[in-house]
Amino acid sequence: MALKLFNTLTRSVQEFTPLDPAGKKAGMYCCGPTVYDFAHIGNWRTFVFADLVRRTLEFSGYEVRHVMNITDVEDKIIRRVRENKSTLREFTGKYEAAFLDDLKTLGCREPHQKPRATEYIAEIIALIEKLVARGIAYQANDGSVYFSITKYQGCGCHYGQLLKLNLDEMRTGERVASDEYEKESVADFALWKARVPDDGDVFWPSPFGDGRPGWHIECSAMSIKALGESFDLHLGGEDLKFPHHEDEIAQSEGATGKPFVKFWLHGAHLLVEGKKMSKSLGNFFTLRDLLAKGFTGREVRYLLLTAHYRETFNFTLDGLSGAKSALARIDECLGKLREIAGENSTPNNESLPLNDNSHLKLFAYALHDDLNISAAWGVVFDWVRETNKRLAENSLSVGEAVSALAAWEKMNSVLGLGNANIIIFASANFVGGSNLTANPTVVSVPEEIRLLADERAAVKKAKDFQRADAIREELKAKGWVIEDTPKGVKLKKI
Ligand code: AMP
Ligand code: ZN
Repeated sequence: MALKLFNTLTRSVQEFTPLDPAGKKAGMYCCGPTVYDFAHIGNWRTFVFADLVRRTLEFSGYEVRHVMNITDVEDKIIRRVRENKSTLREFTGKYEAAFLDDLKTLGCREPHQKPRATEYIAEIIALIEKLVARGIAYQANDGSVYFSITKYQGCGCHYGQLLKLNLDEMRTGERVASDEYEKESVADFALWKARVPDDGDVFWPSPFGDGRPGWHIECSAMSIKALGESFDLHLGGEDLKFPHHEDEIAQSEGATGKPFVKFWLHGAHLLVEGKKMSKSLGNFFTLRDLLAKGFTGREVRYLLLTAHYRETFNFTLDGLSGAKSALARIDECLGKLREIAGENSTPNNESLPLNDNSHLKLFAYALHDDLNISAAWGVVFDWVRETNKRLAENSLSVGEAVSALAAWEKMNSVLGLGNANIIIFASANFVGGSNLTANPTVVSVPEEIRLLADERAAVKKAKDFQRADAIREELKAKGWVIEDTPKGVKLKKI
């Protein structure tokens, strides 16, 4: 079953084949965060989308090399560094660390490489020198080095591969120094920006004089260094098509003479309560804002994954509450399957009553169809419904439950929802931590909580029910519910 993806370059859904002659390895670059503030929920939609692409490629058997840069020097950052009277590294370090923390909270697989622009200045300069040597870049009177669109087109190259641009209306000879500009101002853009007083301490020496790189050249230099002059997939939010990605193509192909990227994938934007996010509208959320409202990273991830990546997604707090209930349905079903499966882990391959193979096939089929996530969720919830029916009939054998869990693990390798924080102790009389690791239902439980649960089991055995109740309350105050079940004691994170 071939994986098909919408390629912005050809404006069509195409079968994905990597450049690797063995058809095994796939190189993927996603434009990373500009670390000048906490990433907002819109940014997260794009990074969760990138994670979905990577996981789908891995699910399909590709050996993926995932690179995501950290933009730690550009116009907005320099402005903020100046306002905060901070140093560049001090300022960006804080937001970079927060970003990487949030990435984990959202269950995203860590990119194999996370290059920082400031650590690739030599590669950036070398790339600009190549463009200057080929006559495609020039130093202007202001000391900055610009990319010449006219010269580039003159070499038989085509500017505007992702967007249809009317270059005849282009104001030839005009230059744009800032990193972000509108389509109407297609113009020669800055590769190296000569040092100005506002840059403060943020500058590097170069053959063109002291200065700093433009944003677009950073991604060309880092992606080429990490994945080679031609690679398979390049991702980002739709707003990056122009000018960022157009400029990346022009710089890279202008310098190497080779096709830069085979597949360009763009994720549509996220709106909040039907509007563009803005601080003044009060609809601007970072992940931390949502965690503070009592939602979990899994719930946010689930919601972000409910819409197709090429459709604008309307994020609402009601939608997030809906995500909480939907996830709870899945978790409850899994919890019951785990109770039946116990410590067994060998699937019963002879009988697959839930027809896990066919569910898996349908799930894979949906994903391979340009990441048709609604169809994939449809398969997941059909599977939950059928499993619940069998559970209600009490007709599932241990082997069947293990098979069902194995099928879920495979689907979850793409969905990345991890496990709910539910544990079931091996027996009601359980005292001590040794059984925790042996039981497959166990997920990470903080030491302090585990010790309290142990103590409760011990005091109950000693018939000190007052203390047992007090521990239950203490656990609740710490965010954990403890339940006695026929199988043992269940701990659940609230
Ligand atoms: P930035 O940190 O501004 O460079 O953006 C990081 C990523 O988030 C880029 O790929 C942007 O295209 C993407 N992005 C920005 N705003 C939104 C939004 N509202 N919805 C989805 N993606 C977004
Ligand atoms: Zn980029």
